[in-house]
Amino acid sequence: MIYRDFKGMKLSGLGLGCMRLPVIDGDDTKVNEDEALDMIEYAYNHGINYFDTAWGYHGGNSELVVGKGLSKFPRESFYLADKFPGYDLSNMPKVKEIFEQQLVKCRVDYFDFYLIHNVCEMNIEQYLDPQYGILEYFRKQVENGRIKHLGFSIHANFTTYERFMEVYGPYMEFCQLQLNWFDWTFQDAKRKVEDLSCRSIPVWVMEPLRGGKLIDFSEDEKARLDALEPDFAPAEWGFRFLQTIPGVTMVLSGMTHKDQLVQNISIWNTDKALSEADWDALQSIAADRIRKGSVPCTACHYCTTHCPQGLDIPWIIELYNQNKTVENDFISIMAVAALDKDKKPGACVHCHSCEKVCPQQIRISDIMADFDERLHPGRKSAESEGTGA
Ligand code: SF4
Ligand code: SF4
Repeated sequence: MIYRDFKGMKLSGLGLGCMRLPVIDGDDTKVNEDEALDMIEYAYNHGINYFDTAWGYHGGNSELVVGKGLSKFPRESFYLADKFPGYDLSNMPKVKEIFEQQLVKCRVDYFDFYLIHNVCEMNIEQYLDPQYGILEYFRKQVENGRIKHLGFSIHANFTTYERFMEVYGPYMEFCQLQLNWFDWTFQDAKRKVEDLSCRSIPVWVMEPLRGGKLIDFSEDEKARLDALEPDFAPAEWGFRFLQTIPGVTMVLSGMTHKDQLVQNISIWNTDKALSEADWDALQSIAADRIRKGSVPCTACHYCTTHCPQGLDIPWIIELYNQNKTVENDFISIMAVAALDKDKKPGACVHCHSCEKVCPQQIRISDIMADFDERLHPGRKSAESEGTGA
């Protein structure tokens, strides 16, 4: 395992992100505890010393499993990160209550790293509003040693980032960004990395493989990459890309299967920057994918608990992407047909609740409508005629 220096600590270059632990029956809130605990132990025994959880991961159960898994190891032998869930505005007045519960859930009396979670356009006003006292509260926890290092994660545009930094910047020790070869220009990632470097704030990376979407290469993409680096595994492209960017200190990968963990740890046994040709090839593939209009869902599941219809939004978007990009695709059509009527894209009531929490700012309601129209062309206009609308 490669280790990176952070204020005199040796952090494993790869951290275990605990938002995609193995689950039972595809239910994101039901963590398969035996498998998850086995993965945590394997990670720990093979050099990973940074574990990242959050209030909202797996409907609140990630913190419980991570706390249980790490409780068997000496407290000073690992670094634990947790986050304040300000992506849900109803949590803003509950900062103390939530923090206290998080310590109990994780079975610790301090967090090594603590983040203001998902700063974005939707919550910046509240984060800056002194009535909630968020910064003040967390600064106090730093003073009393219950937070060792305070940082933030952000999915905002550069203007919102600057507004946040104006107030919070002097107290932020690290910044977690969505960074990968596909998103290098998305959400102003490149510009933020440069700005953070000027402020001497190191970068933590989330979604290095976009929830596994960046290891699925088409035949054509694979041929282009194999010509350059025939020995690279698909995930290696994502990780080597990040090893090329100065300032990247921590790369968090949310792994679901133990074999992914085993492979990723083996990649992180070496540090190897990409060549210019490698870098350009990835950027050219990213540009091609953006041109084709693929929806950039990372399957983070933040949206699903906000849907009054109980739609499996990330799954539907995955099928939508397939439907749009694969010619004459019948798999997505069959998969939607297998869903209950009240779980199909057409069951969306366009309330937009999901969009308020989507870090990728995806217009989910529009996608549901478009997918429904693609599956049933002309149905909407026929209904309009029927009602005389
Ligand atoms: S807009 Fe549609 S998908 Fe989103 S929360 Fe509302 S009903 Fe669910
Ligand atoms: S639609 Fe947005 S919030 Fe929902 S899973 Fe995808 S990226 Fe996450």
